[in-house]
Amino acid sequence: MSAPFSWIRPEPWGVHVVPADCWVDPGRAVDRALVTHGHADHARGGHGETIATPETLAIMALRYRTGIEEGSGEMPSKATPVAYGETIRLPGGVDATFVPAGHVLGSAQVLLEHAGERVVITGDYKRRADPTCAPFEVVACDIFITEATFGLPIFTHPPIEQEMAKLLAALRGNRDGCVLVGAYALGKAQRVIAELRAAGHQDPIYLHGAMEKMCRLYEEHGVPLGELRLVSDHTKEEMRGSIVVAPPSALNDRWSRRLPNAITAMASGWMRVRQRARQRNVELPLVISDHADWNELTATIEEVDPAETWITHGREEALLRWCELGQRRARALALVGREDEDE
Ligand SMILES: [Zn+2]
Ligand SMILES: [Zn+2]
Repeated sequence: MSAPFSWIRPEPWGVHVVPADCWVDPGRAVDRALVTHGHADHARGGHGETIATPETLAIMALRYRTGIEEGSGEMPSKATPVAYGETIRLPGGVDATFVPAGHVLGSAQVLLEHAGERVVITGDYKRRADPTCAPFEVVACDIFITEATFGLPIFTHPPIEQEMAKLLAALRGNRDGCVLVGAYALGKAQRVIAELRAAGHQDPIYLHGAMEKMCRLYEEHGVPLGELRLVSDHTKEEMRGSIVVAPPSALNDRWSRRLPNAITAMASGWMRVRQRARQRNVELPLVISDHADWNELTATIEEVDPAETWITHGREEALLRWCELGQRRARALALVGREDEDE
């Protein structure tokens, strides 16, 4: 990099905010971390101080036991909540503001302001409406750091209503059995449930035990999910004609034998790739993504219209090329471990 923006440096394990000696989504434990959201490739435990939205801190407390109880023998870590729209002054004269990213509950873009320059780090984001989190906001900036999980023109996500209709049709066709939906435990599962409710499906939905705490956390943060029941508390008979939501790992697991004649579905942006669906023995692929698709990535860069775009998360090359063709300055960051396989 040339002289401007020397205060922000991408390193393989995260973005370093130099004057504040602070990291954004670091992949290793640091003294001070700004965390965009609760997914494992962005949030980890063990930082001296974690600065994030209250929702992300609650998710991290559930998953990584940040804010460890006294006497547990683990390093205590300070949790600093910053609500959407609020600005926190970091050491070295850097201001940080959390802005909704529309990805999962509590997910934020981080706006960093220093020396008259503005940098936005999106974390992961999407542009579609999602009943389980606040919508993405466009923020003007000089450097825009965008993800590129689905950064290829072949990736266009269908409307979620269409995927919900497929799911409900499969359920109607399998009244003696059930439809088992594989969905990532943080974000995707709750979104699928909330969208089913929005589509008018009011029957109890059955959960794998691994989903329960995160669903309750969403409800405590004002996201109603309707009647949820644990699979372990019910018989095969009771579950006939129902939708069951489980982590992707449970789809082809012994666990699913307790279900009545299950049709196996999976909710993921990767279901756009037939081979991925076959690998998981998914009979009903549901293309439901919590990331922007190609059109949304390019539209977002146009709307934000930054002086420079930095690209992370897997498929950087096509987006980089798109920027260059449009006379936009861009570079690909080699951040490690940012591939959202389960999305
Ligand atoms: Zn994520
Ligand atoms: Zn990610």
